[in-house]
Amino acid sequence: MTRKPIFAANWKMNKGASETEDFAKAILPKVQHHTFPCDIVIAPPFTSIPKAAELLGNVSSVALAAQNCSQFDSGAYTGEVSPMMLKEFFVHYVILGHSERRAIYGESDEFINAKVLKALEVNLRPIFCIGETLEEREAGKLEEVLRRQVTVGLKDVSEEGLGDVVIAYEPVWAIGTGVTATAEQAQEAHAFVRSLIAEQFGGEAAAKIRIQYGGSVKPGNARELMACPDIDGALIGGAALEPASFLEIIENGTA
Ligand code: PEP
Repeated sequence: MTRKPIFAANWKMNKGASETEDFAKAILPKVQHHTFPCDIVIAPPFTSIPKAAELLGNVSSVALAAQNCSQFDSGAYTGEVSPMMLKEFFVHYVILGHSERRAIYGESDEFINAKVLKALEVNLRPIFCIGETLEEREAGKLEEVLRRQVTVGLKDVSEEGLGDVVIAYEPVWAIGTGVTATAEQAQEAHAFVRSLIAEQFGGEAAAKIRIQYGGSVKPGNARELMACPDIDGALIGGAALEPASFLEIIENGTA
């Protein structure tokens, strides 16, 4: 089974509209009229999405993502943005369950599941994030945590819906810390996550689903990580803020 790798830039709460314009203009000559052996996704903050859509919306090699969405269609939910609203701006993916949202905003597996289901309902593809904290890993709870996150987070997703889901395995201790999981640690976790998908959805679905690695991915470690058989791309924070380093990760990771 060959899976097309997917490299996604998670800008977090960085880059307003003018910095988004600078980034888009810097990558345009490299991505316009080019075909890549991977999918490339950029996730700006909500308010920068219109600018990114204006400049990159017609570039077929790049897709846009949001970093979150509501589990509702519309209504009295102050501060929320619905999946349908995102779709008006050429947004095709949405990052859900990022560890920062779990830890800082208290998002539970059940809450994330509701968002995954709503996103799929309107054909927005979830980049569904999972991963253990250092304490959980050191307490030998890696598999227990991943099993809970996958089982609950993807509950009631249809087999067809799963085809639109990308999983991002992001060990919390590696996010923004400069500490990357070794290729061996990452591969072991990815293989386990794939086995969970096989249990829940069957072997064919497990063979097809793309599982990105996230956690201090940089141009220097992308090649080794992406060479692992169960790693199908990367979700990148800090190193995706600079156009050159994001493009270098893609180049090295697909070499
Ligand atoms: C992330 O935010 O998902 C992430 C992986 O960040 P970083 O690459 O900075 O560790």
